[in-house]
Amino acid sequence: MSDQTSDKRLSRRALLAGGALVAGVPRSGWPVARTAAPTTRIQVGGTTTTTLLKNTTIVTVDRSLGVLNDCDLLIDGEQIAEMRPGIEAGQAQVLDASDMIVMPGLINAHIHTWETVLRGAGADWHDHEYFEVVLGMLGEHFSPDEIYLSVLAGALNQIDSGCTTIFEWFHNTATPDHTDAVIQALEESGIRAVFGHGTLKPNPKPGERHFSEIPHPAHEIKRLREGRFAANGDGLISLAMCILGPDYAGIDVNRHDFALAKEYDLMTSAHIWGGDSRKTPDGYRTIVAEGLMDPRHNGAHANFIDDDEVKLLVDLGGSITATPAIEVGVPRPPQISQVIRAGGRPSIGIDTEIECSGCMFDTMKASDQLQTAFDSIGAYDPSAVRESSGRPDIDGIVTARDVSTSSLDVLEWATINNAHALGLGSQTGSLAPGKKADLVLLRRGDLNLFPVTDPVQSIAVHANQSNVDTVFINGVLMKQHGRLLFDQKALASIRTRLEAARWRLFNLAAEFGRPLG
Ligand SMILES: [Zn+2]
Repeated sequence: MSDQTSDKRLSRRALLAGGALVAGVPRSGWPVARTAAPTTRIQVGGTTTTTLLKNTTIVTVDRSLGVLNDCDLLIDGEQIAEMRPGIEAGQAQVLDASDMIVMPGLINAHIHTWETVLRGAGADWHDHEYFEVVLGMLGEHFSPDEIYLSVLAGALNQIDSGCTTIFEWFHNTATPDHTDAVIQALEESGIRAVFGHGTLKPNPKPGERHFSEIPHPAHEIKRLREGRFAANGDGLISLAMCILGPDYAGIDVNRHDFALAKEYDLMTSAHIWGGDSRKTPDGYRTIVAEGLMDPRHNGAHANFIDDDEVKLLVDLGGSITATPAIEVGVPRPPQISQVIRAGGRPSIGIDTEIECSGCMFDTMKASDQLQTAFDSIGAYDPSAVRESSGRPDIDGIVTARDVSTSSLDVLEWATINNAHALGLGSQTGSLAPGKKADLVLLRRGDLNLFPVTDPVQSIAVHANQSNVDTVFINGVLMKQHGRLLFDQKALASIRTRLEAARWRLFNLAAEFGRPLG
């Protein structure tokens, strides 16, 4: 309450500027300068960076390897060097992981961390309110520093919750400074990321073109591709284009945007729903017929597109990412069973912490439960004659699914499938020698996990953020003993500044006649 009271004294000019709240505060919070490494590497002998995890259970999420019990895992530099029992420690730092489950770092294939500042403001909203308030009204008033703070806090929370890679779907590129603030925050967080450069969807002002008529800004893609991302694909952060796509733009803009992505060799992604309001009639059918489709294309949501359109996308090598915790208000299933029927790999993500938890463990559960509910309801035929189960008390409630999924399937959605959707399948998403050392250790002795009968089910059904003991990204230790290694004083400063930014935006919303909270 006191925060709110003091911030109410801020002038309208200060509210609209938004910069003075964070001026002069150093940004990086990791113990070692970001130019060297995002955190303290475990170093032995001064130069070698090796870590040996001893006597552990490894859930590889690699179907050819399965679950490895009483096994060792050697991290050498950025990579997993070996996974077998009895690895000699040599010069390696040894971690006793006998009471841990080792798993691949989770991957979040769709999130707008730039919205973290409004975390929890919209859990009770109807869907249209997000578009009105965040994209239409407030988005264009975010300062670069507010974007920076949101992305850094959001990305650190992803790491803390066992997620080592995100697709940052950034559609608030008001100025190059906003874009650069995101890239800086992602770099400082130490997370592996695909940075998706998108465009905002504001309410048009008199005399302005509607956002759906504006092609993707080629000068910005050129600036990024010839500057920070000249060697795109090397390093922790890569560049993609988040275009308007067939739902939010007509065919002319799509012709421009797909051609721009092709010119700069960039993966594309688009928000997709389907239905009657699409700006390009027949959606991907038209995009494909025009020869525009990028085989690496990713569509998010897509709840209303039909089986044939899903198959068209999947057959061309594309992916669809469902965000079930957000889509729960949509009267159509998430894109999981439809993708499976089309022969594709389901992919899942968070979308926005304005309305739901940012934890991928939560999203795994929500995805499986929501899809199962839709499948069961769809397959239920109350008039069907059923054989007695021998238990007359349950005969009347037996349901059926046309697609069955296992806990391993669900874990794949959040790991290797998401890696493939982001073009990172050869680097991360599963554990095997030669892959990047992006991995998470869960405490198997925690009250919500023991006794561990099947570690895959433990992860997919029971685990949560509190079980994440240790996180490595690219071989670098980011969290240990349940504590993020990011400097706690810097984190406290980020919190203070982010809360100030939150009140500025809340006050601004009130001035616009749409109070929040
Ligand atoms: Zn989204």
